[in-house]
Amino acid sequence: KRQEKNIRQILLERLPKDIVSLLQLAGQTGQELDVAVYAVGGFVRDMLLGIPNDDIDLVVEGDGIAFAQDLGRKLGARVRPHLKFRTAVLILPGGQKIDVATARLEYYEYPAALPIVELSSLKMDLYRRDFSINTLAIHLCPPHFGRLVDFFGGQQDIKDGIIRVLHSLSFVEDPTRIIRAIRFEQRFQFKIGGQTERLIKNAVRLNIFQKLSGARIRHELRLLAEDSAPLDAFIRMRDLGLLQEIHPLLHFPQTKEALLEEIERVITWYKLLFREEAPDIWIVYFLGLVSGFDTHQVQALTSRLRFPPKRIELVESTRRQLRYVAMQLAQWGKNEGSAADLYDILSPLSLEGLLYTMAKQRKLELKKAVSHYLTHLQDVGILVTGSDIKKMGLEPGPRFANILRAVKRAVLNGEVRTREDQLKYARRMAASLQGQEPKAVS
Ligand code: ATP
Repeated sequence: KRQEKNIRQILLERLPKDIVSLLQLAGQTGQELDVAVYAVGGFVRDMLLGIPNDDIDLVVEGDGIAFAQDLGRKLGARVRPHLKFRTAVLILPGGQKIDVATARLEYYEYPAALPIVELSSLKMDLYRRDFSINTLAIHLCPPHFGRLVDFFGGQQDIKDGIIRVLHSLSFVEDPTRIIRAIRFEQRFQFKIGGQTERLIKNAVRLNIFQKLSGARIRHELRLLAEDSAPLDAFIRMRDLGLLQEIHPLLHFPQTKEALLEEIERVITWYKLLFREEAPDIWIVYFLGLVSGFDTHQVQALTSRLRFPPKRIELVESTRRQLRYVAMQLAQWGKNEGSAADLYDILSPLSLEGLLYTMAKQRKLELKKAVSHYLTHLQDVGILVTGSDIKKMGLEPGPRFANILRAVKRAVLNGEVRTREDQLKYARRMAASLQGQEPKAVS
């Protein structure tokens, strides 16, 4: 049964003004072209939950591409049509994206002499989706603007906090939905419904993951790692028998949970720094999942999950560095080494390797050292350049790099700060090197 109610008021109250105008313009455009237009999916779900979401998905009952082009003209947006799927992406001047899909009218011919039925094309489109909470639609065309369309009980499930599939073959059709179910469960603190959980266990018994491509599984695991509460999600996957179904080596023992928890903590901390460089969070978790494994075991997993060559290289080179870095770091702590020494130890590591190293340290002062590197030391630059040194009368050569490195060490150690002081320091270094054979300064 189809439930309808008008949520125009909620929409006007909860959404930012520019989004409301966008939706209104989309609705008017639909009306002009005589096609019905709906906002659907995660956007509607999040609005009802009171969570901001700028990813607008529209479904058009009619020619979606023609609609997208018309709307694009009005908005001054770029339109990228995808003819094969009759979809289009609008990219607004501000960078905001709107996805437009076409819902085709489909005619179902029943056997015998029953009449041909025209099913609502919107309903057919929504029926292909993963969970009831993602099947809500809002009519945008005047005079229906704000009418909520709920074919599959999505509203009730949002109220009750339930993740529910639409039909019993859903996971067989697309096993990645199992990982999505767990991701949504953790993100919204919802619960996978009883029948849906039984279907997951059934699917596991049928070994449906074994036929699924590594790339698709990895993509979903990556989204899981980037979403909220990844550790709980991984534990849920493990307890449902999913991780071992993907590969027996993925089944992590309880003893690894402390490290994974520490990784979660470090990543949360790093996100709050709002730094420009974003780590591949999944790789940091992966390093945790494979800690203590040998190279063959890691290769078995990267090949099952079809890691791209660059990611394999990142994992392998980071793992090679980690042991050495851990040793040096311990030594550094014992010797109360300088900031410049710390810099030399940590600067070869990738961001993923750094975050993993920070999580892995048991000693608080070493954790703090890595965090100090991430927040301060790695950004340290110097105010002396090669041309300054040239003006000191030195011929360009390896000594240049040595002098600049020595200045940088002095800056890292807080021995010099201003450009003046740095120049003075460089001059002293240059003088002591004059006439000497080039050799490394350490
Ligand atoms: P997010 O906030 O993570 O983007 P979303 O619900 O918008 O959540 P998307 O992955 O962007 O999720 O997908 C957009 C819509 O497409 C979803 O609302 C969902 O209904 C549908 N969808 C995505 N993946 C699948 C799938 N594997 N099977 C069925 N429907 C899917």
